[in-house]
Amino acid sequence: MVTRRPRIDLHTHSSRSDGTDTPAELVANARRVGLDVVALTDHDSTAGWDEATDAAGDVGITLVRGLEVSCAYAGASVHLLAYEPDPTHEGLLAELERVLDGRNGRLPRTIERLNALGMEITENDVRAVAGSAVATGRPHVADALIARGYVANREEAFDRLLKTGRPAYVERYAADLVTMIGLIVDAGGVAVVAHPWGRGAGSVLEPEAFPTLKAAGLSGIEVDHNDHPASAREQLRAIAAESDLIVTGSSDYHGHGKADFDLGCNTTDPAEYERLTGLMRSKFGA
Ligand code: AMP
Ligand code: ZN
Ligand code: FE
Ligand code: FE
Repeated sequence: MVTRRPRIDLHTHSSRSDGTDTPAELVANARRVGLDVVALTDHDSTAGWDEATDAAGDVGITLVRGLEVSCAYAGASVHLLAYEPDPTHEGLLAELERVLDGRNGRLPRTIERLNALGMEITENDVRAVAGSAVATGRPHVADALIARGYVANREEAFDRLLKTGRPAYVERYAADLVTMIGLIVDAGGVAVVAHPWGRGAGSVLEPEAFPTLKAAGLSGIEVDHNDHPASAREQLRAIAAESDLIVTGSSDYHGHGKADFDLGCNTTDPAEYERLTGLMRSKFGA
């Protein structure tokens, strides 16, 4: 008998943050494209977990409950994937609240910048396109700009207006990376650095940072990601091997919000996935 190698995608977004599929649609689409395991990792929020869990039971796919937390380390913006932490952990919740407040606080300031540039756009426009999102972000501002006809797509909105250094870019609060790793581990979860050398980050993690982060409780590095060219993947794989960190791969799917990031476009090796699940210690809901 031939056993098929399981296909595992450990980083996706739903409409509870800046993806365009509802959590249930995301899970159904993951099954449709032949994935065996999918992780829902919305930005800074676990709001999609319940809906995704129900849908995963219905369609018959393994769901990993995760999130992607906006962090900062030595002046670099770093996204941290957290898998299966207890979502009721008080310290974790408090810090996520701070990050979400930062997102909400940034919105009016971004709107002011856009208005000063002569673009007629309101906070309500953004709230309307953000729908059920808990974590609002620049992609929603981009969608509102598309609806008003100022840009053709999210890519153009980021390139012209919203990315670091562009006129409507506004900074926001990010959690301290080492603190957040500690909170995730304390909540029984597993911490993996997302796309450490991805696009859009002005300053990124130095190779020397990984042993320090490992000592703080980091378990893995997302190596196979579309923002990483082959050379970066090779280097990151070597860094992971040196520090005995798990290597993951994923799509960072955002529905039709981000072209060329289709579900399953990168996947995680089943042996690496086994290592990851072996570290999950939270007991909630079990
Ligand atoms: P924010 O969460 O507001 O900091 O916005 C960052 C998010 O925007 C990232 O996590 C991506 O999901 C998305 N993003 C970044 N660059 C682009 C781009 N060029 N096109 C579409 N989405 C992007
Ligand atoms: Zn996103
Ligand atoms: Fe990210
Ligand atoms: Fe992401």
